[in-house]
Amino acid sequence: MDYLGEAIALTIDTIILGTCIKQYIKSKKAMSMIQGAPILDIDKNLQEIVNTHPEKKLEYVSIRGTVKPIGNPIISSNNPKVSGVIQLLSIKEHVIQRSTAGFWSEHERLIQETHNIMPFVIESKGYNVEIVDPLAAEVLDMDVISDVFSPTVPSVMDHIWGFFAGVRQRGVQTTEKMLRKGSVITGIGELIASEDGLSLRLEPPKNGAPFYLTNMQVTSLVRKLDDTRRNYRLLCIAFGVVGIILGGLIARRYWRDRCKKLDEEKRKRQLEDTRRERRRRVRDDNLPEAHLCVVCRVNPREIILLPCGHVCLCEDCADGILELCPVCRATIDKKSAAYIA
Ligand SMILES: [Zn+2]
Ligand SMILES: [Zn+2]
Repeated sequence: MDYLGEAIALTIDTIILGTCIKQYIKSKKAMSMIQGAPILDIDKNLQEIVNTHPEKKLEYVSIRGTVKPIGNPIISSNNPKVSGVIQLLSIKEHVIQRSTAGFWSEHERLIQETHNIMPFVIESKGYNVEIVDPLAAEVLDMDVISDVFSPTVPSVMDHIWGFFAGVRQRGVQTTEKMLRKGSVITGIGELIASEDGLSLRLEPPKNGAPFYLTNMQVTSLVRKLDDTRRNYRLLCIAFGVVGIILGGLIARRYWRDRCKKLDEEKRKRQLEDTRRERRRRVRDDNLPEAHLCVVCRVNPREIILLPCGHVCLCEDCADGILELCPVCRATIDKKSAAYIA
C-alpha cells in the first residue's frame, strides 16, 4: 500500500485524539456535576430531607464525615496499631526489560492484588450514612501503610540468563494501603433512604455520574478536575494539529500522484495518436476488398492472430480485440505483424 506509513501515523493520532477528547468531556462533565451537587451536612435534618424527595433519594450529593466501621475493623498486616475499613494489598514485580530496539528499561508487573472490605459508615454529629460498594468509586483515597521493596540478589547464572532472555529481575514491591478508621472523607454519590426511612446510604449514582470517596474537600476536587480538564484540552489541541498536518500531507501526496498519473496517461495517448496517424499516412488507399480489415473495412489487414492463423485485423482494431478471433472465435494467444506481399 502506497500510504501505509502515513495511514498508520494518522490512525494512531486519531486513536490518541479520541481518547483525549473522551477524557476531556468526562472531566468537564464530572466537574459540572460536582459543582451542581448540593453539599449536605450529616445531621438530624438529613434523613428528613431525603425522605421528602420522590423515591426517598437524592441523585447526586456531597457529604463529609468520619469513617467508622460497622462491626470490627480490619487490622493492618504491617502495623497492628492501624485499623481500617478497606485494605488493599498488592505485590508488584520490578524488572528491567530489553525492548525490541535494544534498550533496557524498567517495568512494573502486578503479580497480585487483594482487597478486603468491612461495611462502614461516615459519621458526623452522631448521625451516619452507610457507604455502599466503595470499590466502584472513581477516586478512592487510601493511606499507604507500608511500601517495601525487596531487591533480588542475582547469581551469575541469573545474569547470563537475563542477558539472553532480555529480562532481569530487580525486586519485588509489596504495598499495603488502607482507608483508615477515623479518617475524614468526602463522599459524592446517590443518597438513598432505607425502606423504613430510618437509615441512609450513599451509593454509586445510577445516572452514570462518577462516585467519589476522597479525603479532599469538594473545592479541591473541583480544582483537581479542572487541572485534568485543562491538560486534556492541551493534548486535544496538540494531537488535533498533528492530525491536520498528517491529513494535509496525505492529501498533498495523493494530489501529486494523481496529477502525475493523469499526465502520464495523456502522454501515452498522444504517443498512440501520433503512431496511428503515421500508420494512416503510409497505408495504401486502393486496396481490394479481400485485403481490408474485417472490423473497420478501411485499413489493410496487418496482424496475424495465433494459433488460428487468421490475418483479418488492422493494427488499430487489433489493439481493442484481446480474447477471440473475429473470424473463427478461437482464443487469441499471440498477435504478430503480418505482411501481405
Ligand atoms: Zn481495422
Ligand atoms: Zn481465426
